[in-house]
Amino acid sequence: MFHGQSVLVLGGSRGIGAAIVRRFAKDGAAVTFTYAGSREAAERLASETGSRAVHTDSADRDAVIATVRDSGPLDVLVVNSGFAIFGDALDQDPDEIDRLFRVNVHAPYHASVEAARRMPEGGRIIVIGSVNGDRMPVSGMASYALSKSALQGLARGLARDFGPRGITVNVVQPGPIDTDANPADGPMRDLMHSFMAIKRHGRPEEVAGMVAWLAGPEAGFVTGAMHTIDGAFGA
Ligand code: NDP
Repeated sequence: MFHGQSVLVLGGSRGIGAAIVRRFAKDGAAVTFTYAGSREAAERLASETGSRAVHTDSADRDAVIATVRDSGPLDVLVVNSGFAIFGDALDQDPDEIDRLFRVNVHAPYHASVEAARRMPEGGRIIVIGSVNGDRMPVSGMASYALSKSALQGLARGLARDFGPRGITVNVVQPGPIDTDANPADGPMRDLMHSFMAIKRHGRPEEVAGMVAWLAGPEAGFVTGAMHTIDGAFGA
């Protein structure tokens, strides 16, 4: 489905990002992905899938812009890198909180704008947000919720900027997905499942499937929109 297309996944070494890399590689795309801390996992994934791994810390704006520029022109950009900080807002280190905003908000914005410079007509920009951009049912995660709801504004605004060129901009908003960041057997499992209609963690491959659909030919009229995949966590 993606033969001849060039895809960049920011944050592709593990979890949801790795599933997205595998999906695009299986479907024939030339895939580049970035990693920060997980060099070995990145190298394994690159050789397993025939993709290219590039070290780029998403907290470093200039490095992100350079990687997007050097990987282009891109048919598809997926920004997946992101993390959460848990705990009492009154005790949190402001530098760590600002780092979260750099990775979760600034990187998606600057990467999207840089990708659009040379993206062909009909290109796709997909950012991994969270159902926590819509709903925050627990305490201690305000910075994360703020960062993920900011992506909604990014998609709505950039969809207007790039729409005349047929470029779509969308946010995929997962609920609990079984990864290192949120293992299905973790301590929050029962609480999270109590909010859900389908009481299980999602699989990274299920998120990758939604990303592939948004990147594919059937989704050319879908833009500026949030696509929640959460077992009704936020319903
Ligand atoms: P993981 O922690 O399992 O994996 C995170 C991935 O992002 C890794 O490949 C990691 O690379 C990369 N990454 C993190 N920080 C950076 C950075 N500074 N620079 C470059 N890469 C980075 O997380 P998930 O797979 O669970 O989450 C992926 C995305 O999905 C995130 O944006 C997250 O907020 C979102 N999400 C996840 C949910 C879940 O329940 N799992 C629910 C809703 C949203 P490396 O290890 O090499 O640093």
